[in-house]
Amino acid sequence: MKILEFTGQATSRVVEADPPKPKPQEVLIQTARSAICGSEMKAYRGAGIAGGNGGHEAVGTVVELGDGVTSLVPGQRVGVSAVVGCGECAECQRGRYTWCRSAKSRSQMHAEQFAIHARACSPLPDDLPWDEATLLTGDGMGVPWHTAKKIDRADIQTIIVMGLGPIGLGNVLLQAHLGRRVIGVDIVNYRIDFAKQLGAEVSIKADDALIDQIMDLTEGEGADVVIDCAGQRASVANSFLAVRRGGIVVFNGESNEEMLAPSRDFNRREIWAVGCWYYFMSEVPEMFYLWRNGLDVTRMISHRFPLADAPEAFALFDRWQTGKVLLHP
Ligand SMILES: [Zn+2]
Ligand SMILES: [Zn+2]
Repeated sequence: MKILEFTGQATSRVVEADPPKPKPQEVLIQTARSAICGSEMKAYRGAGIAGGNGGHEAVGTVVELGDGVTSLVPGQRVGVSAVVGCGECAECQRGRYTWCRSAKSRSQMHAEQFAIHARACSPLPDDLPWDEATLLTGDGMGVPWHTAKKIDRADIQTIIVMGLGPIGLGNVLLQAHLGRRVIGVDIVNYRIDFAKQLGAEVSIKADDALIDQIMDLTEGEGADVVIDCAGQRASVANSFLAVRRGGIVVFNGESNEEMLAPSRDFNRREIWAVGCWYYFMSEVPEMFYLWRNGLDVTRMISHRFPLADAPEAFALFDRWQTGKVLLHP
């Protein structure tokens, strides 16, 4: 089978490999679509992944069952969760794999076939097309939906999305769909324009005048919610400057830097800070419901490439000139 290999320093190539053998409790999936996620870029730009890739959003058809699998049958269409819990603890029983203490993250899904635990597979409704399913069962819409559930206060009207990569664009699409007034912020013109297409009322450049512009747009108060999807020192600082007193800052972007001051950023202005990572397995049916109620998640997709052209797709994604990018074998 063909699999994409991250060869390091922002290069990749498609190579031939033996299909993985499903271990006990795993299944082998024939990939129908995989999606590119921003979180893969650290490995892509850095040391690479010998023989493999960071792909972790995919849908496909079950082709082989490992020992002990009784919940799926060959031929079944599924979407997968890349975060797989132990399946036995209280959090896993509730469908919260991301809260399981022994959760593991799976990848290697930019390939014609991949293996994954049966309990990480969500069977797809027969009428749900592959493209939609890729976004609805993966972090493309999973993170925005998980985020939306944490900011469901009725008094929230204006939401700023700081950073308009795929996760930011998903937040724009979903929050606009939910009736919020959305302001998008980024440094890349392509993404600023894309956010407008997805429903942002205003989409602006993060320059020196950013906070002044936001105050002009929010009657001098700041936004009710700011979702930081960039995880940069500047975007985090701007998120706290752009939120109103008593408002909510949500962290979607990953960062390991220490850059917050409790008195300045939280106490005196009574800010709520919300951490948000990935989504719960139990939330996948809710995302199917969103789609049935008219959320067209395919609007986030800007490009589709055959797996053979994945190196070209990654190079384009790396230049920030895409929305969501799908690969198909
Ligand atoms: Zn991801
Ligand atoms: Zn568990």
